[in-house]
Amino acid sequence: MTPVLRFAPSPNGRLHLGHAYSALLNGFLAARLGGRLLLRIEDIDLARCRPAYEAAILEDLAWLGLSFETPVRRQSEHFPDYAAALDGLRGRGLLYPCFCTRSGIARAVAAQEGRAGASWPRDPDGAPLYPGTCRALPEPEAAARIAAGAPHAWRLSLAAALRAAPGPHSYLRFDRDGGEGRVAADPARWGDVVLARKEIPTSYHLAVVHDDALQGVSHVARGADLEAATDVHVLLQALLGLPQPRYHHHGLIEDEAGRKLSKSLASRPLAELRAAGATPDSIRERLGFGEDGPRAGGRS
Ligand SMILES: [Zn+2]
Repeated sequence: MTPVLRFAPSPNGRLHLGHAYSALLNGFLAARLGGRLLLRIEDIDLARCRPAYEAAILEDLAWLGLSFETPVRRQSEHFPDYAAALDGLRGRGLLYPCFCTRSGIARAVAAQEGRAGASWPRDPDGAPLYPGTCRALPEPEAAARIAAGAPHAWRLSLAAALRAAPGPHSYLRFDRDGGEGRVAADPARWGDVVLARKEIPTSYHLAVVHDDALQGVSHVARGADLEAATDVHVLLQALLGLPQPRYHHHGLIEDEAGRKLSKSLASRPLAELRAAGATPDSIRERLGFGEDGPRAGGRS
C-alpha cells in the first residue's frame, strides 16, 4: 500500500515558519516513504477562516516548492459528512447535549473545588475537565431545550465511550528514520470532549479522524502540540470503526544549528520573511532541512 501523508493547515492567518517546518517535513517523509502528499484545508471555524488566507497558504506552499495532489479537501464543504458521523454516535447513546457557557463551567468547577478543598483535574491543554453538569439532564428536558432553540454543543460521554470501546488504547508512532513503537493512549485525561460546538457543527477531533480515514492517510506528521489529542483520536477511531494511521509528533522547530527557534521567530509569517529577501532555500536551511531531509532534532 502506498503511504499517504497530509499537511492540514487552518486558513485563519498567514503561514509562519512553524507551519513551513511541518509542511516541509511532510514533503520529506512522503518522498522518503514513496508516498502521496495531500493538502487539507481545515476551515470548520467559519468565523475565523478566510478565503484570502487559504489563497495565501497555497501561494506560500508553492513558493516553498511543495506540491500537493488535487483536489484539495476543504472541510467546510463536508459538514454533512461530520453530521452523519455524529448521528451514528448519538444513536448509540455516546453523546449528550451540553448547554453550558464557558463561565458556567468555570463556576461549576470553582464550586467543586470549594467543596473538595482541592483543585479540579485539568486536561492536557490545562483546561478544567468538564464537570458533567449536563450529563445528568433528563432526556425530555434536554430535548425540550433543543426544541426551544437553546444553543448547545454535543459532548462525548467518556464513560459510555469507554464501555463501547474499553481499550486498552494505543497507537503506532513512527520516526523519520523508519523506527516504530507503540504508544499507550489515555483518552480519559480529556474527559467529556466536545465533538460538535455550539457555533460549529463539528470539532477538530471529529473532522480530523473522519478525514484521515476517508482520505486513506496512513502517516500523520504534526506538531507535538497535538500529541495529547491523539488519545482522543484513537478512541474516536475505535468507536467509529476507522483505520488508525501511524503518528509522528515533531518537536519545536529548530534552526540549522539545532537550536530551538524562539516562539517569536517560529511565528514569523513566511510572507514577511520573503519580503525581507528570504528564499525557499534559505528557509529550508534555516529550518535545518539539508539535502537528505531534516537534521537532528524533533521528537517522534
Ligand atoms: Zn453542559
